[in-house]
Amino acid sequence: MGSADVQKIGSIFVYSDEMSRFDFGPDHPFKPERASKTYELCMRYGIMNHPWIRILEPRTLDPALLTLFHDAAYLKLLREASRGRFRLEMLERGLGTADNPVLSGIYEWSLRAAGGTREAMKYLLDGRALVAFNPLGGFHHAMAAHAEGFCYINDIVICIEDVLRRVSGMKIAFIDLDAHHGNGVQSAFYKDPRVLFISLHETGRTLYPWSGNETEIGEGEGRGFTVNMPLEPGTDDEVYGFVFDAVVPPLIRAFSPDLIVALLGADTLISDPLTHLKLTNNGYQRAVRAIMGLCPKVLGLGGGGYDLYRTARCWTLAWALLNHVEPMDEFAGLVGGMMFGPEMEVGSLYDHPYLSKGEVKEKALEEGRRVVARIQKEIFPFHGLRE
Ligand SMILES: [Zn+2]
Repeated sequence: MGSADVQKIGSIFVYSDEMSRFDFGPDHPFKPERASKTYELCMRYGIMNHPWIRILEPRTLDPALLTLFHDAAYLKLLREASRGRFRLEMLERGLGTADNPVLSGIYEWSLRAAGGTREAMKYLLDGRALVAFNPLGGFHHAMAAHAEGFCYINDIVICIEDVLRRVSGMKIAFIDLDAHHGNGVQSAFYKDPRVLFISLHETGRTLYPWSGNETEIGEGEGRGFTVNMPLEPGTDDEVYGFVFDAVVPPLIRAFSPDLIVALLGADTLISDPLTHLKLTNNGYQRAVRAIMGLCPKVLGLGGGGYDLYRTARCWTLAWALLNHVEPMDEFAGLVGGMMFGPEMEVGSLYDHPYLSKGEVKEKALEEGRRVVARIQKEIFPFHGLRE
């Protein structure tokens, strides 16, 4: 896929300033503000004002689509919670917890986030755009009948289900780069061979949601279509690249999807306060670039990322890659880091290289090799691939 194609056909950036101001509370790590920081950074680096880029204001998803995944009783409680009311039975549905607080307007906000994902996907399917990014979407932990992991409505599952029922013969690959296992999405498509689910994440031994073992490979007809790559704490760009290259390109090529939905969570970064992976945005970019080479149509979704500024930088770089545009800071040397405070290395979006050392590195590499070997042995044959 050359740069001429996306620049001829178009790309979609889903954005709402109003939505990015939605507040989960001062102590909550999830900051929708990441979206506006990304938008500002993209403007500043000259990767938003191009004739082929369309900025799409997300509209509310038709609530009738919610039951493509979610349970009606859960939705009823969620709507009540969204009016600021708390009832004890909400707790059984994950509502009113520290991770998923009862927030006034959360139902409407989540519906708009999902609406953005759906509309972006429609543009790709109609051929009106080749790539899209919704930094306000990607709620991969939301389950059919309960909320968890900062996620209330699973925009990913709903939008994929919607496409599958409307377009027969459709094959979709979901690649989850977020540091947390994509448990909600996995649960939805565990028996479904129309969706190839691939998740690279920190091992469930050390991180929520405690799942995503390499032995979880799908069931029934979906056996071999769920691929989990648990990674050790301390996994760096090098180990990540090795694991990714050994598994993702061969499986995606064999599956040959019509569309890739990529969860571009930026919580794998060394600076992330919630996880223990040690990537830089160089390793992250490498993965995004590789995904782009595997399918002409890519829908990127935000997901996690709890170091606000570095997440914005990561997503800015991802957006530049998706559009085949080189970021250029027209203010370099003038305002430098002022705009994003001391966290930002002056004058560049790119992280300094980092590699883990000693026992941490050895363990990460050893586990990476073990997981790759296991997947090549157990999963590759389902796709006509040899070890
Ligand atoms: Zn995450």
